Amino acid sequence: LSPRLLERREEAIRVSVRLRPLMDTELRSGHHYIWRVSDGQLWVEGGTPDIPKSVSDRVKGVQFGFDHTFEGDAATSDVYKKVAKGIVHDAIRGINGCVLAYGQTGAGKTYSMSGDASHPGIISWAVHDVFNKEFLLRMTYLEIYMERVHDLLQDGQAGEDSPLENLLVKEDPSKGFYVAGLAERLVSSEGEVYEWLSRGERKRHFARTDFNEVSSRSHVVFTLIIENSQSSAEDDDVKTTRIGRLHMVDLAGSEPFGAAISEKAQAESKLINKSLFFLSEVISKLSARAEASGKDLADSFHIPFRESKLTRILASALGGHSRSALLVALHPSHCFLDESLKSLRFADKAK
Ligand code: ADP
Ligand code: MG
Repeated sequence: LSPRLLERREEAIRVSVRLRPLMDTELRSGHHYIWRVSDGQLWVEGGTPDIPKSVSDRVKGVQFGFDHTFEGDAATSDVYKKVAKGIVHDAIRGINGCVLAYGQTGAGKTYSMSGDASHPGIISWAVHDVFNKEFLLRMTYLEIYMERVHDLLQDGQAGEDSPLENLLVKEDPSKGFYVAGLAERLVSSEGEVYEWLSRGERKRHFARTDFNEVSSRSHVVFTLIIENSQSSAEDDDVKTTRIGRLHMVDLAGSEPFGAAISEKAQAESKLINKSLFFLSEVISKLSARAEASGKDLADSFHIPFRESKLTRILASALGGHSRSALLVALHPSHCFLDESLKSLRFADKAK
């Protein structure tokens, strides 16, 4: 291990955008592509005849730049290589990392992170890379629903009062924030990881949304804890152990909710918005701090980790000596302009 890697290094989060293709059913019901991406740039095609002028006028001249942009036909393996692979390899070296998928419901967060039977997601590529190297591996899997942390790897009584449905995030002077009582499962093969993940998946809270699709109103955090023991260069008997935590996060849908929704959905929505707001605050303040690093200003930034469960849990992978990436899943249709602009502003603020 190079000593250079152990130096305190602070860098801004990498922000990328991935469009998904329109589905046949969407095309048949009048959705049109509105966003164009290439080489890290995102813009709106001028003179799109099928899109009402009132819509295209609203985004006339809009352009954003990101670290990477991916078109609808991009393969997840390519997304993995450009967005996550470096973070995974650094986690193997003991540097905490975090890959976050953000976006409105239906835009492709889960497709990117978990994939499906024929399209492996970022998690699969990461797990494969890590298992190629043989380390001691543990995993945790949790869900944050209504600001309550729910262990997806422990069987216990379901229900509001169950302690497993509301684990506490505590703070320790030496190890920082941690989830008290969260189960860590030792995993010795890729297959074992997927068994635990699918068991966990069955325990999640799902709800129906306006989009008439099964969607998640919770954040899910899959964490690989990679323990890497190496003999020192001078003395074989002296072993150093580095522990890297790699978080892969499928965030709750970012779409705003209309007025005509149930009280429960309103409460969910309020808490989701709040935690996404603090995530964005934490990320943008960290980016500002990274920019100021080396200057005396760096210490004057207050990072509001404490304000939500999500930012507390991810604190050690977002701040300080760590690496993170935000992948924004973007719906390609002109019908979701407000949701897409919200996502793009979130992404832009994170840079
Ligand atoms: P989210 O998790 O953001 O709610 P999903 O990942 O479930 O969205 O994606 C919604 C639908 O779009 C799914 O049917 C998924 O298979 C499909 N999809 C998403 N992204 C892509 C993509 N890049 N290529 C092909 N299909 C995609
Ligand atoms: Mg999803």
